[in-house]
Amino acid sequence: MPSTTVYPACKIITMNPARPTATHVAVREGRILGAGTLEELAGWGPHDVDTRFADRVLMPGLVEGHSHLMEGAFWRFVYCGYFDRRDPNGKVWPGAKTLDEVITRLTHAQASLDDPGAALAGWGFDPIYFDNRRCVREDLDRISTTRPVGMMHASGHIINANSAALNAVGWLRTGIDHPGVPLGSDGIPTGELKGPEPMMQVAAALGMDRAVLAGDAPGMRLFSRLCVRAGVTTATDLASPLPDDGVRMMLELSAHDDFPTRIVPLLRLAGTPAQAVERALALQKLSTDRLRLGRIKMVADGSIQGFSARLRWPGYYNGAANGLWYMAPEQMQQAMELALQAGVQIHTHTNGDEATEAVLDGLDQALRRHPSADHRFTLQHCQLADAAQFRRMKTLGLCVNLFANHHFYWGDEHYRLTVGPERATRMNACATALATGVPLAIHSDAPITPLGPLFTAWCAVHRLTASGRVLGEHERIGVGDALRAITLGAAYTLKLDGEIGSIECGKRADFCVLEDDPLTVPPDKLKDVGVWGVVQGGRVFAAAELPTD
Ligand SMILES: [Zn+2]
Repeated sequence: MPSTTVYPACKIITMNPARPTATHVAVREGRILGAGTLEELAGWGPHDVDTRFADRVLMPGLVEGHSHLMEGAFWRFVYCGYFDRRDPNGKVWPGAKTLDEVITRLTHAQASLDDPGAALAGWGFDPIYFDNRRCVREDLDRISTTRPVGMMHASGHIINANSAALNAVGWLRTGIDHPGVPLGSDGIPTGELKGPEPMMQVAAALGMDRAVLAGDAPGMRLFSRLCVRAGVTTATDLASPLPDDGVRMMLELSAHDDFPTRIVPLLRLAGTPAQAVERALALQKLSTDRLRLGRIKMVADGSIQGFSARLRWPGYYNGAANGLWYMAPEQMQQAMELALQAGVQIHTHTNGDEATEAVLDGLDQALRRHPSADHRFTLQHCQLADAAQFRRMKTLGLCVNLFANHHFYWGDEHYRLTVGPERATRMNACATALATGVPLAIHSDAPITPLGPLFTAWCAVHRLTASGRVLGEHERIGVGDALRAITLGAAYTLKLDGEIGSIECGKRADFCVLEDDPLTVPPDKLKDVGVWGVVQGGRVFAAAELPTD
């Protein structure tokens, strides 16, 4: 008979409404046999009692419904972000507070490069904090005029490149005509590259090629360490090209006994919608417990803080031109039709409310042809949706995964610069989602902001910006609702809520092990609740014992 382990805990928050708390949980074959009292669980027969969590609080393993494995790979580049950030080994990197500091940091990193032609890349750059003074190629030429130098913006939607990097792709010249490649007064690109297509070319010259990074085993290993430190047992890789060799690597690595995370990669729609649906169906067949394949991700527009999101009238508060369509609305509608027909799930990135409206219209049309009672198509970010759009989401059966962290990092900029005071208060409208009955998750979009669902929950509960402003007090939600959004809520958007997201009989033995009780600490301390580690599929992973190579 398989062995049974019973874990007593200070408190077990189950997220099971029929039995919200328990003192013990029994685990057999990687799954939960039951949560209750020791006497109740003893009825299952012989068992070992493991007391290592006796002074700790257990809750369901946290589910990050929007993140990218790339965060793991990014740590080999130079961190150029404004805020302090913890790396996969637990070291905290200080934020760079001025453009000069960023340049100095990159120049410093350059000293360790032997090859004079080797590329130098940074990530997490966020010029909006430098009063939106745009970085141009001459700034980065201060670091080097011979090697390609560039930085990925924090939004992930813009890259800044120096002259050598532009030259490497043949763009250090006049006559470039592309909406994502702004030109300087000399007619030569400024070095700011917006949107996937121009970024991709330059990223390759910088060694930051997304397709390469997406299939990177060391990066995936580092990512899983971030998950353990954050209490996450299931995380999405929300837009991956999923080439054959990348999928093979992910299957192999995730199958290792010491791999601590369930990864849910979504296939980024490239090529035609028909090709993507066909590929998703083929990938579904390869799914394992720890690698869940077969969903599609579409990207409708860019980012609001990069002014590349599509906004409805009256547009950007500071008068910036409207953003970019990453995919034509007609093409999104076609993809949704084909996916509904094939039973493939689609998550769509929308930031601006015009992009959200396009998906609502497209899905409305698609559902007329292929009705589906439970498609769970999900809007990702969906930051600027208004109440009417939430009501349409409810009617159309959409879920929403709101970008709660964004409010902290860019709320001040949205208030004063991008969408203005009124619309900034409705961004990431968690309370409206709950009030209208739209299934709700909240996310970090790591590496855009740091992976850490308890911090994400704190953001949704307080809606504080970096400067301390409460932005949209009526859209705040309670701690209980926020904890549900980072467990069952996110699991629901992935159609995994029958398996994970709560601690109850039959589900996977996935726990987040905490040093304190998130339901009873003062709500402003929610983000500071210590994470001891996780139990994933019955396997115990302590953050303090993670390898640090
Ligand atoms: Zn993302």
